[in-house]
Amino acid sequence: MTANGTGTTQSAFLQRQPIKMLIGGQWVEAVSGKVFDTINPSTGKVLAKVAEGDREDINRAVAAARKAFEGGSWRKLTSSQRGRLLLKLADLIEQNAEELAQLETLDNGKPIKYSRGGDVPLTADHFRYFAGWVTKLEGETIPVSVPNMFTYTLREPVGVVGQIIPWNFPLQMAAWKLAPALACGNTVILKPAEQTPLSALRLGELVCEAGFPEGVVNIVPGFGETAGAALAAHPDVDKIAFTGSTEVGKRILRASVDNLKKVTLELGGKSPNIIFPDADLKFAIRGAMNAIFFNQGQVCTAGSRLFVHASVYDQVMGGLTDAASRMKLGASIDPATELGPLISQEQLERVTGYIETGRREGAKTMAGGERPGGNLAQGYFVQPTVFDHVRDDMTIAREEIFGPVVVALPFEDVEEVAARANKSIYGLAAGVWTNDVKKVHKMAAALNAGVVWVNTYNQFDAAAPFGGYKQSGYGREMGHAVLDAYTQIKTVWVNLR
Ligand code: NAP
Ligand code: MG
Repeated sequence: MTANGTGTTQSAFLQRQPIKMLIGGQWVEAVSGKVFDTINPSTGKVLAKVAEGDREDINRAVAAARKAFEGGSWRKLTSSQRGRLLLKLADLIEQNAEELAQLETLDNGKPIKYSRGGDVPLTADHFRYFAGWVTKLEGETIPVSVPNMFTYTLREPVGVVGQIIPWNFPLQMAAWKLAPALACGNTVILKPAEQTPLSALRLGELVCEAGFPEGVVNIVPGFGETAGAALAAHPDVDKIAFTGSTEVGKRILRASVDNLKKVTLELGGKSPNIIFPDADLKFAIRGAMNAIFFNQGQVCTAGSRLFVHASVYDQVMGGLTDAASRMKLGASIDPATELGPLISQEQLERVTGYIETGRREGAKTMAGGERPGGNLAQGYFVQPTVFDHVRDDMTIAREEIFGPVVVALPFEDVEEVAARANKSIYGLAAGVWTNDVKKVHKMAAALNAGVVWVNTYNQFDAAAPFGGYKQSGYGREMGHAVLDAYTQIKTVWVNLR
């Protein structure tokens, strides 16, 4: 990196345009020769040109991953050697932290303070946590009742794994996918989102630098309808791990039918965040802000339905609208920025479309609801928006908006709010704010969600399982739960007679 006098640095990676894809240990152009633009959402300007992978490139990447898996260069390494490669990668991520943070922020639009303080260090942590599992993947001996039989299990990798990720946390999503898959001994083809290919490709360079055998990690940027669909349908892919919209998740599942590849899905949400009157309200308001506005609301767990007890509704709404109106919007690379732009023009139109729909259906914006003008007019910005006078059956209270838009809904009692909170096709996350220990456990049990946060929100850790109920998907990421998604169990019977 070289300093350019603005407090930001120019990544040497960005000089190597068009940026190539990683297949079989080589950095190559697309077979078609095509490239696509990735945009800086703060300015709407082209940031880089990237090789556009499609079916042909996916075919090559799958062949490379298959060769690496069957050829044994990867599986012949000892567990300790594989663990060390993951640790080395974590070290390299830390050594290149500032460059990765800037690439992430330029490509995605998230404020730099979060890329520096969250995305990059958590990515390194993730590889380190899973490096520890490599030497601890054990089978079992089984006390069968058939005479003279010695029976045991082996925990084996699934094989060639396709991983398709979204644009909201590009680097962390790559880590959530790659780290456990590699720890379990699989080989991978990763397709980053078309909007944010850069950090995953830079990570690919670090994978090479760390010394992973060629073909173990392949990274093919491109579009969902072409590269993504080819990967999802490929007959030689043993498993797909997908994070993204519920709609595309269903398509992935349909595409898996022909070769019955295994599928795990981490999909959308419309998560309830519930404030009881006995909560520390100042703390809860801050929590509600973080729940919906973190990452511009482009978070699958976003606390987008805010249920507030009627007795404290006005007080909470006052605090929330005040805090929302004071949030500092700005270019993502500015360290003072709290809310950056949305990812794209398309997402901007989607979010402002929902705001219009909310108003048309009779809800009222108490804060935000507009696009900021001045020097932010070029980027994909929308103000942090709080809706009041919302009914549970309105579009904005049911559908995932994936933007900085929260609907507030008053409630009267515990049973009522639990039932209303659960009335959703989704079940990814939920928040509860109360100082009453009985309510804590009642609500934790009652809410149909893969994660329940109490007096906190949006907490993640490589050791804690994460995933959805209902149409928020299935399978778990992180913790030892994810090991089941990337291994299969072989039972061995040995006749000792
Ligand atoms: P998406 O379409 O589900 O994209 C997720 C990933 O799937 C991207 O890599 C995408 O490729 C790929 N993809 C798209 N169509 C595909 C297909 N037919 N076969 C295989 N892969 C395919 O999500 P999006 O378009 O980025 O966002 C749309 C909405 O999805 C958002 O507004 C939000 O509501 C939701 N979303 C949820 C999450 C989450 O974490 N739960 C994350 C992102 C978005 P491209 O790179 O070409 O898009
Ligand atoms: Mg971009």
